Amino acid sequence: MIKNNKNGIEYLTFNNISSLDRIRHAFSTRLGGVSTGIYSSMNLGYTRGDIKENVDENFRRMASVLQCEVSDFITGIQTHTVNVLRVGKEDAGKGVTRPVDYEDIDGLITNEPGIVLTTFYADCVPLFFVDPVNRAIGLSHSGWRGTVNRMGKVTIDAMRENFGTDPSHLICAIGPSICMNCYEVSENVADAFMKEFSGCLLTAGDTLDDHKFLMSKGDDKYLLDLRAANRLIMLEAGVPADNIELPGICTCCNPGYLFSHRASKGQRGNMAGFLGIIP
Ligand SMILES: [Zn+2]
Repeated sequence: MIKNNKNGIEYLTFNNISSLDRIRHAFSTRLGGVSTGIYSSMNLGYTRGDIKENVDENFRRMASVLQCEVSDFITGIQTHTVNVLRVGKEDAGKGVTRPVDYEDIDGLITNEPGIVLTTFYADCVPLFFVDPVNRAIGLSHSGWRGTVNRMGKVTIDAMRENFGTDPSHLICAIGPSICMNCYEVSENVADAFMKEFSGCLLTAGDTLDDHKFLMSKGDDKYLLDLRAANRLIMLEAGVPADNIELPGICTCCNPGYLFSHRASKGQRGNMAGFLGIIP
């Protein structure tokens, strides 16, 4: 992952996606926007109580970073589903410059240049997918519900069906999200993962491997590594390990730099992941 600053707008990019031809992408931070208070300052969420004009300006600033228009963005309507929507030029601006006409969409895919897929985060896991062979992209939101329902695989399957994507060609990135030490979950969440991913629980004497991403703390509490789980899902779907970049930064460990739902107890704005094909 790379830290970038353009005219005071601080944003993150991935090494592997940056090396691809005619692809633009970014993950916003809290820094470089105009929102104040708990939204300070780069809040990209219109639904969290912030002033609309401030969010509009924040989107304009991210458009300047991405070298696109605000009317190129298309946003998800995220409700922790594994619903993936194929979008195109006719959807440009939805969620930013005009209303959306869909609901419950946590993943977006396209093969059309110009538009910029946009999804929102504050601890949950952003999944970026680029198919350089068929020039197609996907961007999905994967919290614990999305992860236990294999949002990464669902997105890859949608790209295969729509664009003929071969998973072995995919270049993927797992974006800034909550780390295992910060992500304590209750027994019902842990149970859901143990049921869906046999052998994911790390027990005493185990060595850490790709399949282990859950650890008991006692008292029916567990630590869950959502990034490792999403990486495993990508690997099992056929993405080569070398093609998956990890974030190396935790939202909850860095609450002044990134919005974190946990760290702020829900008093926060939204960051966004952006991914587009350059015309
Ligand atoms: Zn952390």
